Amino acid sequence: MTSYTDVVVIGGGQAGLAAGYHLRRLGVDFVVLDAQSTPGGAWQQTWDSLHLFSPASYSSLPGWLMPAQAGETYPDAAHVVTYLSEYEKRYELPVQRPVRVGGVHRDGQAHLRVETDAGSWRARAVISATGTWWRPFLPTVPGRFDGRQLHTIDYRSPRDFAGQRVVVVGGGNSGAQIAADLAYDADLTWVTQRPPRYLADDIDGRALFDAATARRRALEEGRPDTGGVASLGDIVAVPPVREVRGRGLLKASPMFNRLVPDGIQWADGSAAQADAIIWCTGFRPALSHLAPLGLRGTRGHIPTDGTRALGEPRLHLLGYGDWTGPASATLIGVGRPARDAAREIRALLA
Ligand code: FAD
Repeated sequence: MTSYTDVVVIGGGQAGLAAGYHLRRLGVDFVVLDAQSTPGGAWQQTWDSLHLFSPASYSSLPGWLMPAQAGETYPDAAHVVTYLSEYEKRYELPVQRPVRVGGVHRDGQAHLRVETDAGSWRARAVISATGTWWRPFLPTVPGRFDGRQLHTIDYRSPRDFAGQRVVVVGGGNSGAQIAADLAYDADLTWVTQRPPRYLADDIDGRALFDAATARRRALEEGRPDTGGVASLGDIVAVPPVREVRGRGLLKASPMFNRLVPDGIQWADGSAAQADAIIWCTGFRPALSHLAPLGLRGTRGHIPTDGTRALGEPRLHLLGYGDWTGPASATLIGVGRPARDAAREIRALLA
């Protein structure tokens, strides 16, 4: 069966919903297709203790401020899922789920064809907002480890590792937070490529957003690059990280250079035994559904001007990282590029 609409938004996480909000405001006919059975995107999948690194008011999509969570300065992931569910209802966004998009194809001059496990859609434009959670990145490390190996996406709770020797790899927010989560229950080795770079304790996601905004303004106005968020550090010292670090339980070791059957080994021959290794080594954009369009650039990205794909003006990419708009991979940051994408699409349709 083939359905028709002006715009298909692929992905019903925060980026897809922000796009839907602006398309609706502009009176554009659209549908959102989401592979999950329930609302909330990747926030449904994270570990139990995850909290945002910004207060609710700094974690809001366009139109409606996230309500504060009682008793929490930094809302937890369940609160974000509730907010996104309510957001969908509040703006009556036409989200269909579970619908998984397998491929986007050119269909003549005027249309793109979106093939899914629930039929095809013909549309005049597509916004891809599928996130990164679904494409975990694992580095290649020589050797062999016979224990359990997991990625950030598989980690849920320290209860699963009580009394075990666990190596956590990664010096970003996920690595630091998961290491802190495990510090009391497991025998922890935390490994980072370079010494951890914490943001100052009194700085949270608000400062990251302000830095990203300052950088965007500087570049737009032709002033020198301010360096954006990277200049501040890698790890937001959220309260649980601060607490564990303060107790001296969050010591980082340098990156090891090979896996051995019972653990890890450094270049000097020293080793640590492990029952499990948790790779907190990041993500890549989940773009395999766009492969039929043949647009791939370097590092798994697609070359864009703002959110618009350079090789296919009917396609916009939203929420994947700074390459699709400053801070676009955050709740507060995705609203602006979503608005710009919706405006460009309305102009294209006209
Ligand atoms: P997602 O939430 O992943 O949503 C994409 C949706 O698309 C999903 O529902 C998925 O099922 C669907 N999809 C994927 N492929 C297909 C397909 N082929 N067909 C149909 N549907 C598909 N941001 C903040 O603002 N504050 C924070 O404190 C914060 N903390 C974070 C902590 C961690 C550990 C991580 C990983 C990220 C954090 N972020 C934070 C960043 C960001 O807000 C999230 O990654 C966010 O989930 C990205 O939203 P999204 O809509 O782009 O993608």
